[in-house]
Amino acid sequence: MIGVLALQGDFEAHRKMLDGLGVPTVEVRTATDLAQVDALILPGGESTTIIKLLNRIGLDKAIQERFQAGMPVYGTCAGMILLAQSIEGRPEQPTLGLLNATVTRNAFGRQIDSFEADIPFRQGDGQPDKTVRGIFIRAPYLSEIGAGVEVLGRFQDKIVAVRQRSLLATAFHPELTGDATVHAYFVHMVAASEEKRG
Ligand code: GLN
Repeated sequence: MIGVLALQGDFEAHRKMLDGLGVPTVEVRTATDLAQVDALILPGGESTTIIKLLNRIGLDKAIQERFQAGMPVYGTCAGMILLAQSIEGRPEQPTLGLLNATVTRNAFGRQIDSFEADIPFRQGDGQPDKTVRGIFIRAPYLSEIGAGVEVLGRFQDKIVAVRQRSLLATAFHPELTGDATVHAYFVHMVAASEEKRG
């Protein structure tokens, strides 16, 4: 069962994508919801709003604890911002701090708010690289990555897809395209999850 954080943003699109892969999903709004899922998706939206809401309901702590125990987490766009350790130029904006990286918000310029691009995606595990379709909407990129972070995709040299053990993050939105490659990759991570739940 994959939970999709449903406080704000494009959570419906993630559910539809996973539905297409035959994977059951549930909307997560409380710690009780979180306790029922095997993995969590943090959707795109407005990262400042989402972190405030997470904090208000104490879901930030609950997510951090489950992540430390090994729960797989996938963040897209604002979700990637929420996962990063720090935000370039905004030391005051809190995050969940699970991804050993610094993120730059709204990083592709103001003139072009959104665009679509093909991103070469490294699947690893002896699987061939794939090209995935991504939609970028006021998207971030990772300006710095630390130990344990593996780059899965770049756009024009900028890091836009990474994995750190049970954590996956993309600056773009595959859930708004017809391309289920990245979601299938995450489902594979969830199936291989070694989270210990007591
Ligand atoms: N720019 C947004 C933010 O900083 C993210 C945009 C998105 O999720 N599509 O939160």
